[in-house]
Amino acid sequence: MRKKFIAGNWKMFKTTKEALAFADEFKRLYRDGGVEAGICAPFTQLTALKDAFAGTDIRLGAQNVHFEENGAYTGEISAEMLEEIGVDYCVIGHSERRQYFGETDETVNKKLHRAFVHGIVPILCVGEDLAARDAGRAFDVVRDQLHYALEGIDAAQVRRLVIAYEPIWAIGTGRTATPEQAGEMCGFIRRVVNALFDNEAGEQVRVQYGGSVKPDNAGEILSIEDVDGALVGGASLKPADFIKIVEFQKV
Ligand code: 13P
Repeated sequence: MRKKFIAGNWKMFKTTKEALAFADEFKRLYRDGGVEAGICAPFTQLTALKDAFAGTDIRLGAQNVHFEENGAYTGEISAEMLEEIGVDYCVIGHSERRQYFGETDETVNKKLHRAFVHGIVPILCVGEDLAARDAGRAFDVVRDQLHYALEGIDAAQVRRLVIAYEPIWAIGTGRTATPEQAGEMCGFIRRVVNALFDNEAGEQVRVQYGGSVKPDNAGEILSIEDVDGALVGGASLKPADFIKIVEFQKV
């Protein structure tokens, strides 16, 4: 049985003070309800959050990592540095990084490999833009992204991997994919993983949906069998909103 995984992606929001205020409030609200919950925070907030979440099972993730082990890469953060902090996850290949920071399928693949070397589970983001969706090419785009990203990754690693299907047209737009669209693509992603690896990998890989997930639509999306969780942007910034998504079964 795959456990649903609800992760917040704070993007470039929250100072340390704000992050700690969030952690205090979220810990007060959070009860283990059979789903996994976590926050992917800016690098400078990770250490403080690691301490704040100590003794809970709230997971911690970074939002990016460099693909080399170390070296003269001014301004970059290595997987070893993240491992030392004790992060569980790292978002890799988010569409905002692909769009604004030159992330390519090749760097995404290298980052996946590097994260696994350091025991960090990647949250691999894939998803089509509106032009591709309208042209009926959404499935081709996502399949290609998966093929490139998973090159050289082994089945044991894929079994631990999280893949987030984030259609670009649904990110920060308030326009959510319908539950049918989300379920259809998450199921497709699982079948691609099956074909590339084995049925066990496809059965165990967790596939999240991301894109304008809010308290009032989370229940509908997360009750779909093939949707194993959510990657939540804007609605993860307020504990009162995020807890409603984490506790979607109660709504
Ligand atoms: P929103 O939930 O703000 O649409 O962001 C989705 C996202 O990009 C999560 O990684």
